Amino acid sequence: MTEAVSSGWISSAGRYIEEFEAGWAAYCGRRHGIAVSNGTTALHAAVAALALEPGDEVIVPTFTIVSCITALLAVGAVPVLVDSDPELWTMDVGQVESLVTERTRAIMPVHIYGHPVDMDPVLELAGRRGLRMIEDAAEAHGAAYRSSDMTWRRCGSFGEMSTFSFYANKLVTTGEGGMVVTDDDALAERLRSLRNLGFNADRRFHHAELGFNYRLTNLQAALGVAQLERVDEIVARKREVAALYTAGLADIDGLTLPVEAPWARSVFWMYGLVVDAATGLDAAAFAERLLERGVDTRPFFLGMHEQPALHELGLFRDESYPVAERLARQGLYLPSGLALTDEQVGRVCEAVGEALA
Ligand SMILES: *Cc1c(COP(=O)(O)O)cnc(C)c1O
Repeated sequence: MTEAVSSGWISSAGRYIEEFEAGWAAYCGRRHGIAVSNGTTALHAAVAALALEPGDEVIVPTFTIVSCITALLAVGAVPVLVDSDPELWTMDVGQVESLVTERTRAIMPVHIYGHPVDMDPVLELAGRRGLRMIEDAAEAHGAAYRSSDMTWRRCGSFGEMSTFSFYANKLVTTGEGGMVVTDDDALAERLRSLRNLGFNADRRFHHAELGFNYRLTNLQAALGVAQLERVDEIVARKREVAALYTAGLADIDGLTLPVEAPWARSVFWMYGLVVDAATGLDAAAFAERLLERGVDTRPFFLGMHEQPALHELGLFRDESYPVAERLARQGLYLPSGLALTDEQVGRVCEAVGEALA
């Protein structure tokens, strides 16, 4: 970053942008990386690059961040929601096919809290029904999935395009930042144009299409390059903290802990807990008890079908997704940052035990 400043390349041109794009794309097993300003703009650019028609449907989990929905609404697409798998919290892949209609064009799997979606059935369905895929890997830097042919692939390598966020709380950060990775040359070119106001390489102020200013700066990319050097260490520590939590919480009744499917390598972006309703506590009451013991937590996502702003647009009003609703009411995540010490993890586990005693 110091080099970026002293050389004067502080804006959206400079060597670190290409270095970060090439490095992150290679890490994901992709040919192209298009760095953008954040994970939300990565989703918007990716959806825009698909050139959907208004009214085209895209299947997306209800239990996710609002960015997935805003990206679709921005291009006039119709989000079609799917409930979560009760154990993995990612989208229930068994329900996806029943949601496919004549208008379905794409699927947007999201690797919630660092655990991969079960990709084989989604890839099979997409192939068979001619659907495209945008993989939202914003919570799954370095996570991996084992296909039924026993090969491991990193999250970020599935579908036409995968998107990442490099927000401060993500595994790899540039402060604010994002990236779309793809193997498709034409999509990569389109994304570069969309990122940069639709400027044309040959005739700069001549616009064949309209774009956005979603550029990342060289300063941020320099931070990304440095982060990339540490990614294995970061992933290993996240997994280590999760293992400490799982061991420390194993004997406490009334909790469901995160799992790791045999075909998954989770990066435990956030270490989530679901408290049993039988304890008489919901997540808000549980969080209050933890806070009294000095442990700050965050609630789980509230499903997109329970969002007032989306109801106001006439979306999802009478829809119900029982698993996502239970997760939203009973789920929270524990301190999961990289600054956490083993000793602090131990104290959190004690506080959880006391809160439920
Ligand atoms: C963080 C996140 C985003 C948005 O990223 P920003 O950089 O905060 O815009 C998108 N999708 C998922 C799943 C996320 O967790």
